[in-house]
Amino acid sequence: MKKLTKPLSDTKPENIFEECVTSYRDKEKVNTLLKCKDMIRCDSILYDEVVPSKLDKFKQSSLPGGVVDKNLSDVYTTKFAAENGPGRKYYNAIKELAERNICPICGIRMVKTLDHYLPKSKFPTLSVTPSNLIPSCRDCNMDKRDDTSYDPENTPIHLYFDDIPNEPWLQVTVGDNLEILYYISCPDTWDSGLRKRLEKHLDFYDLHELYSSHASSEIANSIHMWTKTVMQSNMEILKLALIEECESAEYNDMNSWKAALYRGLVSNFDKVKVYLFNLCINK
Ligand SMILES: [Zn+2]
Repeated sequence: MKKLTKPLSDTKPENIFEECVTSYRDKEKVNTLLKCKDMIRCDSILYDEVVPSKLDKFKQSSLPGGVVDKNLSDVYTTKFAAENGPGRKYYNAIKELAERNICPICGIRMVKTLDHYLPKSKFPTLSVTPSNLIPSCRDCNMDKRDDTSYDPENTPIHLYFDDIPNEPWLQVTVGDNLEILYYISCPDTWDSGLRKRLEKHLDFYDLHELYSSHASSEIANSIHMWTKTVMQSNMEILKLALIEECESAEYNDMNSWKAALYRGLVSNFDKVKVYLFNLCINK
């Protein structure tokens, strides 16, 4: 999980909103929706000030007469995210923030959409606010749905606003048959609120299971090479190879599923040894 640069900071959310709504053909609808412009400006400023640690202080403005929540979320769907909508260029600019088009939330799947950090169904004035829109794969977007809590200790990590020190916080337990389970273990010096939010992040996006399944596949793909290394050389050479894998994965992302997996395999190398030994004698 890597921090992203807050997108489109030189473009005001209320101007994006105006550009989107003025493309409606129904001029009465345009004039009614434009009454929301100032609320979008104020709510977007407040959101940037309070997210994520003071999220409980965020109060959305009341919408003017004639406008309901769905009108604003429709602006996102039909004018911002739609292929030919006037807001699509902003949508694409946010999507392109993701390195190598990989979802920055899970770090595994491809970016296909934008995730509203505060859901548009509950916070419609933030429907097209760029800092509320995170590049995401479809699964991360769907798994979170509208579950975001507004209690600052129970919100997932915000990739534009949270600063997470570059130290290991994702770890694994290694079972006797090399079953891998992921958990959060932050350094003691870290704020306990950040630890809770990292745990929430894994829960919200259902990442424990996803990471365990990738780890299990990585091990299955490596067993042949590991046993060959042990047969042709020895256990110490294999351990060095795992350390190399770990360092390489950590260099790219200290807390990717792969970095945590190899960290765990190196620190539980006795289990790897016994597992491979049993495998060899049972062949
Ligand atoms: Zn994802």
